[in-house]
Amino acid sequence: MMVANGRGLRVLVAGGAGFIGSHLIDALIGDGARVTCIDSLLTGRHANLAHLANEPRLDFVEADVTEPLPPLPRFDRVFNLACAASPPHYQADPVHTMMTSVLGTGRLLELARDAGARFLQASTSEVYGDPERHPQQESYWGNVNPTGPRACYDEGKRSAETLTFDFERRHGLDIRVARIFNTYGPRMRADDGRVVSNVICQALAGDDITVYGNGEQTRSFCYVSDLVGGLLRLMRAETPLDGPVNLGNPREMTVGELVDLVVRMTETPSRIVRRPLPVDDPQRRRPDITRAETLLDWSPKVSLEEGLEATIAWFSREIAPRRPLPSI
Ligand code: NAD
Ligand code: UDP
Repeated sequence: MMVANGRGLRVLVAGGAGFIGSHLIDALIGDGARVTCIDSLLTGRHANLAHLANEPRLDFVEADVTEPLPPLPRFDRVFNLACAASPPHYQADPVHTMMTSVLGTGRLLELARDAGARFLQASTSEVYGDPERHPQQESYWGNVNPTGPRACYDEGKRSAETLTFDFERRHGLDIRVARIFNTYGPRMRADDGRVVSNVICQALAGDDITVYGNGEQTRSFCYVSDLVGGLLRLMRAETPLDGPVNLGNPREMTVGELVDLVVRMTETPSRIVRRPLPVDDPQRRRPDITRAETLLDWSPKVSLEEGLEATIAWFSREIAPRRPLPSI
């Protein structure tokens, strides 16, 4: 059940040209909102919003949130999704990644405070680091290496959460923090470096499929439409939330199991090859979504098989020229 109360709301989506942000904009536009997307196109793409090119209720502003923001209208709602999210991308310029979470989130919080807007911060399961507790509940403070190569993202997002809760305490801002777990679906970038996009693209191209480490590390994968539904419910909720909310799919599997499933679904002749496990790669990850279920009446509905089917179909079209021709 989707609560349709977005009609006429003025909504800012920072990072709206990215994978999750563009699906969120689709849902907001479908719900009747007027949307401004602000994005530097660092990892996002115009193509993700191309189908909305003639939509009068969508404006696009190209800007980097680490810089002073350009003049913007007043908003009722602000979603902050701006931040590179895949390890190769966020590690390419770690200082900029950290500044995006700290300076960028700070600027957007000020904008929301000045407008009296409700603010949602897209945080991450990475705030739990390599977790010592399993599954991860929001009350767990995490196990993050503050000086390693993932820290620009993990600690950046932790700082962004701190800033967000400080704006609530200090300025009475109406805030929400979503701790998003691994999400996948159409519009991921083929060169993203994340496991789902890598494995699907490698399988479709008949290339070697890269498994980092022994493949025994686990993740829990959420389809993007489920995740967007959770973000909307979190933003709309009127009940006191009193802290962050995990959003993700609790079905946990090893990377090896994911690879086997994609291999079966694509019937690829690809070989599986091992690569070194990246530094600080978390061993286990599964969300405890009790708070989302209780407070938002939300849980994911799309099975991994259904979600992978849609994602494989999308990547088949996206990378079509690279596919080997079927033999006749
Ligand atoms: P994405 O890279 O596709 O989207 C991020 C968007 O932010 C891109 O459009 C990028 O151009 C933009 N951006 C980055 N830095 C910016 C800056 N300084 N100024 C303006 N725009 C900037 O990634 P995504 O997977 O869609 O992730 C969206 C959000 O959700 C991110 O904040 C990410 O941390 C969070 N998240 C995603 C996942 C996931 O599995 N996809 C998991 C946890 C959290
Ligand atoms: N991974 C892998 N092969 C790849 C890409 C990633 O085995 O081609 C592994 C990676 O080491 C991690 C898991 O898959 O253990 C999920 O990686 P991803 O980058 O998708 O997400 P994150 O590590 O941020 O959860």
